[in-house]
Amino acid sequence: MTSQLPIVIAGGGPVGVVTALALARQGLVVSVFEAEGRIDDSPRAATTHAATLEMLEELGLREAVTARGLIEPKFRIWDRGSREIVAEFDFAALKDDTPYPYVVQCEQHKLANIALARLRTLPNATFAFSSRVTGCTQRDGAVEVEVETPGGTRQVAASYLIGADGGRSTVRKTLGIEFEGYTHPERFLVLTTSFPFAGAFAECSRNYFSDPDEWAALFKVSGDDGRGLWRVVFPAQPSESDAQAFAEAAVQARLQKFFPKAGDYPVVHRNIYHVHQRVAAAFRKGRVFLAGDSAHVNNPLGGLGLNFGIHDGIELSSLLGRVARGEAPAKILDDYDRFRRPLNVEYVQQQTIANKKRLEEKDPDVRARSNAALRALAADPAAHRDYLLKASLIDSVRKRRAQAA
Ligand SMILES: Cc1cc2nc3c(=O)[nH]c(=O)nc-3n(C[C@H](O)[C@H](O)[C@H](O)COP(=O)(O)OP(=O)(O)OC[C@H]3O[C@@H](n4cnc5c(N)ncnc54)[C@H](O)[C@@H]3O)c2cc1C
Repeated sequence: MTSQLPIVIAGGGPVGVVTALALARQGLVVSVFEAEGRIDDSPRAATTHAATLEMLEELGLREAVTARGLIEPKFRIWDRGSREIVAEFDFAALKDDTPYPYVVQCEQHKLANIALARLRTLPNATFAFSSRVTGCTQRDGAVEVEVETPGGTRQVAASYLIGADGGRSTVRKTLGIEFEGYTHPERFLVLTTSFPFAGAFAECSRNYFSDPDEWAALFKVSGDDGRGLWRVVFPAQPSESDAQAFAEAAVQARLQKFFPKAGDYPVVHRNIYHVHQRVAAAFRKGRVFLAGDSAHVNNPLGGLGLNFGIHDGIELSSLLGRVARGEAPAKILDDYDRFRRPLNVEYVQQQTIANKKRLEEKDPDVRARSNAALRALAADPAAHRDYLLKASLIDSVRKRRAQAA
């Protein structure tokens, strides 16, 4: 009886939609409920790493995502004060490790929309906008999910519920699962400009600038018209209000200080947000699972959060598929929490925390040592490759496969 009930997914963000597609392609019945009336297109994740591209290929999404994005094989770490490149990393070093030795810069709303269009072609999947999951109860081997829709509140019976409902997850809160970790005191300011950064930045569109006073990150995305937009990320001062950070004069001054040029910057989007390093104390309770930002959040330096969230969804859909087909007992579902939580801590939390610390380091001696270590790492082919295997999450996928073997 339970197996005939749909798997319900709370949240139609990129993780919810990709997970739904991975489940529905196996013939499982899936219903996605998305609280908002449309896919959120605010500027958030864009970097899609090699390990994720391999998974998107399996789902038949990689080509479309690549076509709507930009391929970038390199990233550079600069010293902002001296304007010197400290180290350049090139994913070409992974040419024997992956068919995709680069990242694809494709904004996350494009991925969600591409996956949603595919999902809508499958008869065993439904997707409803303006439908907010407000609670759930587990009983008799099923989950009763409460959903607020424009037509009123519905109770939906589900075999399993996946909370892919973002960092403020209602599902996680309903389960009473702690979101352990901390919030950085400063927020991150993202300014998106159509100014075509040229020269050194045209050679490499992912750039990180370490600086004791104001680090920065500069990267290119293709934009909705494919003509290219640049996003510049700065730490805001902890005391800075939205109005102060967004004021035109302040925005222009920040950008001009970063990269002086004649005339104002055309700024097409400004965004400021809190940054957290948090991991849910458990990724599963009974028949309810957490995936993506509902399970873990981190700073965006390294572009790892969404990638790992997609990996969650792929792993969970594979485990649920095997159980549904009777290929494995239901106890394999324990592996989801058992392995994914520590993997997130090891690969996503540790790397993003280290990336931020390196960019903002204030002690000149520590900065000098850290820069020297980075230079040496980039110059040594074996160390270079090892570093990129972690940065691209290939290592975390390999580790998980070895655990499963
Ligand atoms: C500025 C910025 C840059 C980033 N850059 C990168 C990057 O380059 N690479 C990377 O990997 N990650 C990056 N991230 C992180 C990335 O954006 C998130 O990890 C990603 O959005 C997580 O996807 P998700 O589907 O889990 O959650 P979300 O994208 O938050 O989607 C959750 C969805 O659930 C819906 N929802 C919420 N509550 C309910 C409910 N109760 N019922 C139903 N629906 C609900 C929401 O409306 C939303 O559509 C960045 C984040 C920011 C802020």
